[in-house]
Formats: sequence, structure tokens, C-alpha cells
Amino acid sequence: MAYTYYNCTVTEVLDETPGVKRFFIRYPDEVALRFKPGQFIMLDLPINSKITNRSYSIASAPGTDNMLELLIVLNPQGLGTPYLFDHIKGGSAIKATLPIGKFSLPETIDRDIMFICTGTGVAPFRSMIFDIIRNKKPYTKLSLVMGVRHESDLMYRKEFEELAKQVSGFEYIPVLSRATPDTWSGRIGYVHQIYRERYNEPTNTLFYLCGWTAMLKEARESLQQIVLDRKQIKFESYD
Ligand SMILES: Cc1cc2nc3c(=O)[nH]c(=O)nc-3n(C[C@H](O)[C@H](O)[C@H](O)COP(=O)(O)OP(=O)(O)OC[C@H]3O[C@@H](n4cnc5c(N)ncnc54)[C@H](O)[C@@H]3O)c2cc1C
Repeated sequence: MAYTYYNCTVTEVLDETPGVKRFFIRYPDEVALRFKPGQFIMLDLPINSKITNRSYSIASAPGTDNMLELLIVLNPQGLGTPYLFDHIKGGSAIKATLPIGKFSLPETIDRDIMFICTGTGVAPFRSMIFDIIRNKKPYTKLSLVMGVRHESDLMYRKEFEELAKQVSGFEYIPVLSRATPDTWSGRIGYVHQIYRERYNEPTNTLFYLCGWTAMLKEARESLQQIVLDRKQIKFESYD
């Protein structure tokens, strides 16, 4: 499929955690950037690969400044991310599509939502959660379950901790797979333990999953035993 790419500008690149950067992208004035939280864009990169485009979820909530944010983890064996990490700086030009994809929230949120992610899979959930809260969209309960290896890998940690303190009905549950109880007082293990413990009876909660195949496969299989209807499980796969 042929995509239309626009000549955009990367306004800033920030280090977020070891191996993860935030890229801020501005679209040209003649393009009206509109998106739904959960969508992604494709970047066309000048790399020596049969396939030169790479997909990235939008990590920011929709705004009015023709900009969006991406959260990208370096794959040292890959072609696209080493290019992005080594060559793209504030002021760099980049070719990007308009937002695409159908991973999105329901028009009306009439029940609890649990967002489950690993690593940069948090990107679309940050966009969704900030959109709901900033725009005062009605909701009952939002739980963000975020799995990473180490404490230092927790992306947007301060933001989510602050939000959990300030906003009733928002819960942030970081889960570390490589921590030990002497260094981390929070949850240790994998994201799956959280929903398995919480739901021992069928539920109408919506489950949003994002990340790589292994986590998604296990979560989808387990959640099918928990939900009343399979349509309660929505997912975005990064591979
Ligand atoms: C919808 C979606 C959203 C995503 N969002 C994010 C995000 O927010 N943050 C993030 O860190 N990652 C995200 N990813 C993963 C991202 O698109 C890249 O796969 C990742 O950054 C690794 O890219 P790379 O070029 O470094 O690795 P590479 O191994 O060079 O390429 C990765 C992928 O590109 C494709 N590809 C490359 N070459 C070929 C080829 N010759 N033939 C067929 N396919 C090929 C394959 O799908 C491959 O898995 C997302 C993926 C998808 C599908």
C-alpha cells in the first residue's frame, strides 16, 4: 500500500529511560493534524532496507499545535531505530504519514478500563488517558498496568504517579520483572499477575493491551477466561 508522507520537523528529542527516547514532531502548517488517541503514524526512513517505513504509536494527547510525540525504544539489531537514535536531533527533517489505525477508545466510556502494556507499549495509553482526563470525558475507573524490567525503565513515571495522586479513579500499577524486594516496594513479576488476582469472577471491564507478541498472546488467552465477551479485549501489536 502506498502511503502519503509529509515533510515534518523533529523539534526536540529527549532521553526518557536507558534506551528509550521521546521524539516531538511538528507537521507543516498546510497539514491539519487530527488524530484519535491510540492511533499511530509511519515514518519513512533513509535506511538500507527493503521496507523503509516503521510504525510508531502516538504518545501525546491530541492538541492544537500540529505536533505529536513518539516514544521509541532502541533495537540495536534493527535498522530504523539506530538511524533515529544516531541521526535525528532537534531540527531534523523527517517524513511521516498522517495518523492511522483503529485502536481507539469507545465514544462513551461506560465501564472500567484496564490498560496493560510492556515497555513503549505505554505510548497509546498515555495518549488515551491524558485525553480522557484533560478533556473531562466521563469514566468510571482507569487502571494502567505497566511492565518493565527495572525501576529505571519506567517511562513517564512522575507524570503517572502525579496523576494517580490528583485524579480520582486513575490507578497506576508499575510491575518490575527484574527487581528485588530490598530495592523495590511495588509489584514484582509480570503484568499478568495483576489482572489474574483482581478478576476472579467474569467482568465487563474493557482490557486494552499493547506491546510485543509474547505478552499479548498470554494476556489474550488468559483474559478470554475472564471477560463476558471477547470484544472487551482490544489490542495493538508492535510486531
Ligand atoms: C502499529 C505499531 C505501532 C508501534 N509503535 C511503537 C512505539 O510506539 N514505540 C516503539 O518503540 N516501537 C513501536 N513499534 C515497533 C516499530 O514499528 C519497529 O518495529 C521497532 O522500532 C524496531 O524497528 P527497527 O527498524 O529498529 O528494527 P528492524 O528489525 O529493522 O525492523 C522492525 C520491523 O520492520 C519490518 N521490516 C523491516 N524489514 C523488513 C523486511 N525486509 N521485510 C518485511 N518486514 C520488514 C518488520 O515488521 C520488522 O519487525 C510499533 C509497531 C507497530 C506495528
